[in-house]
Formats: sequence, C-alpha cells, structure tokens
Amino acid sequence: TLPPATPMPATVPCQYRTGKTLGSGTYAIVKEAIHVETGNHFACKVINKRLMEGREHMVRNEIAVLKRVSSGHRNIVTLHDYFETAHNLYLCFDLCTGGELFDRICAKGNYYEGDAASLIRTIFVAVQYIHNSGIVHRDLKPENLLFRTTDEDADIMIADFGLSRVMEEEKLNKLTEICGTPGYMAPEIFKKTGHGKPVDVWAMGVITYFLLAGYTPFDRDSQQQEMEAIIAGDYKFEPEEYWQNVSDTAKDFVKTCLTVDPSKRPTAAEALQHKWLADDKPHFVPDP
Ligand code: ADP
Ligand code: MG
Repeated sequence: TLPPATPMPATVPCQYRTGKTLGSGTYAIVKEAIHVETGNHFACKVINKRLMEGREHMVRNEIAVLKRVSSGHRNIVTLHDYFETAHNLYLCFDLCTGGELFDRICAKGNYYEGDAASLIRTIFVAVQYIHNSGIVHRDLKPENLLFRTTDEDADIMIADFGLSRVMEEEKLNKLTEICGTPGYMAPEIFKKTGHGKPVDVWAMGVITYFLLAGYTPFDRDSQQQEMEAIIAGDYKFEPEEYWQNVSDTAKDFVKTCLTVDPSKRPTAAEALQHKWLADDKPHFVPDP
C-alpha cells in the first residue's frame, strides 16, 4: 500500500469532472478535467496506484520536481493541484491545448530551419533553467513537449517530469539506472558509466534532427542495433533529399549535441552559444 500523499491533498477529485483523453504515456492516462465550481479546464494525469506499485517514489519525485521548477518558467508545464483516491493519484496541470510537438512534426513532415532554430532555442533556455535548478529531465522527446495553445506560434512547454531527478552537485553524473525512450537515450545511459545533465543535451540533438528531417537519427530494425548505433554515435545526414536544404550550421549544431563523450558534449548554456541558435534574429522587430 501507498504511504499518504505529503502534504495532505488540497482537494478531492469530485470537484473535477473528467472529459476526453488527451494522451497517454508509460505510466499514466491524461484526461481533460473541468473544475466544477469555476468551469476552468485542466489536464489531469491519472496514475493507477496498482500499476505503479513499487514505483510510487516516482510520482512523489515528479511532484517534488514540479514544485521546484514548474511555476518558475514560462515554458514548463504548471502543476496546479494533486490529490489521490484509493485507486488513483491525480496530478492536475494547466491544460495545453496545442498538442504534442511530435504530432506537429508528423503533420508538417519537417520544420523550416528558422522555425526549428527558434523552437530549439526556447526549449534549450528552459532546459538550462531546469539544469540550473539541479534537475535532469531524462525524458526529453517530442511526445513530452506540448504547445500551450493551437496557435501556430504558441509557447512550447516541457512536460513529463516522471523520470527526472534532483541532483545534488556531488552526485552529479552518478545516475546509472537505464531509463528513457531508446531513440533519445544518450550513449552513457547504455554504457552504465554514470549520467547526468548531458543526457538532456543529447536528447535535444535527436529532437533537432527529427525537427529538420522528419525522422530520427538512430532508427534501426531492432533495439539492439539501435543501441549499438547510439553507443557508436553512428548516424548520417541522409538520405540527401531530406538534408539538401539544411545549412551546415544546423548540421554542426546537431553534431555537437550528439557528441558521444558526455564530458565533451556542450552544456545547455554552451549549446545556446552555438552559431545556429545565437545568430538567429527575431523574424519581426516591432517599431519602438
Ligand atoms: P507519461 O509519464 O505517462 O508519459 P505524460 O506526462 O508524458 O505521461 O503525459 C502523457 C501525454 O498526455 C503527453 O504526451 C501529452 O500528450 C498529454 N499531456 C500531458 N500533460 C498535458 C497537459 N498539461 N495538457 C495537455 N496534454 C497533456
Ligand atoms: Mg510522457
């Protein structure tokens, strides 16, 4: 059985009415929820306690991390409320109505380079904030990046801190458990040599590649081959037809993020200094 939630739940679920399913992931179903009293809409992550048995600490961890980062940055989903019943844990987030970056990439095929650069810059600034708060996300991927609204230029939001870890400085790079989504996992995770913040920079490299090409760099026939390709850093900017309109600066940015040796990989702050991100001017500068 699960220890009581700390602190005591602020509300009870009957104050919310759940609606359509917004998405689902590894451990949870996320449903639209309407706060009965105010009529406000939220996204409610429903976690089945029985399925989580033995891993309850992951949810407690997710709550702790969200409390630390979620209201501090415009591009991180805000945890609004949480509570539990006998069977479920509920995390109530501000609703992002614009859907996953994953679906937008799939719908568009790929992003124009300028749009990709400005999205990646925004996400990297938020990643830098997360890292400066002593947290590693560990599950950055287009399914966990959500648009706040359906607008074309809606804010992008980092979601799903379920695998994130708070890292004490002295324990930095000491995480060894294998976790994440294979295609976005850094080589050092598979090598079990210890990992930390650099895994998020690697994942950003994979996401950038996906944004530019419409497919991911380490996709192979089996998970074993995929893992071997990641450990070897074996990927190409091919087929040519998908990359001919992409600048060398963008390719160099991807290459830098996908540095196999984590100690040589740029930090989030360094990645933001890369020419591809640093040079981009706003498309439209309003008159003073
Ligand atoms: P899991 O840990 O199971 O992957 P997530 O937190 O990633 O759970 O949520 C699963 C999916 O639910 C997301 O990929 C997204 O599609 C949807 N989702 C999560 N949070 C929100 C939100 N605040 N607003 C809208 N949809 C959300
Ligand atoms: Mg997820």
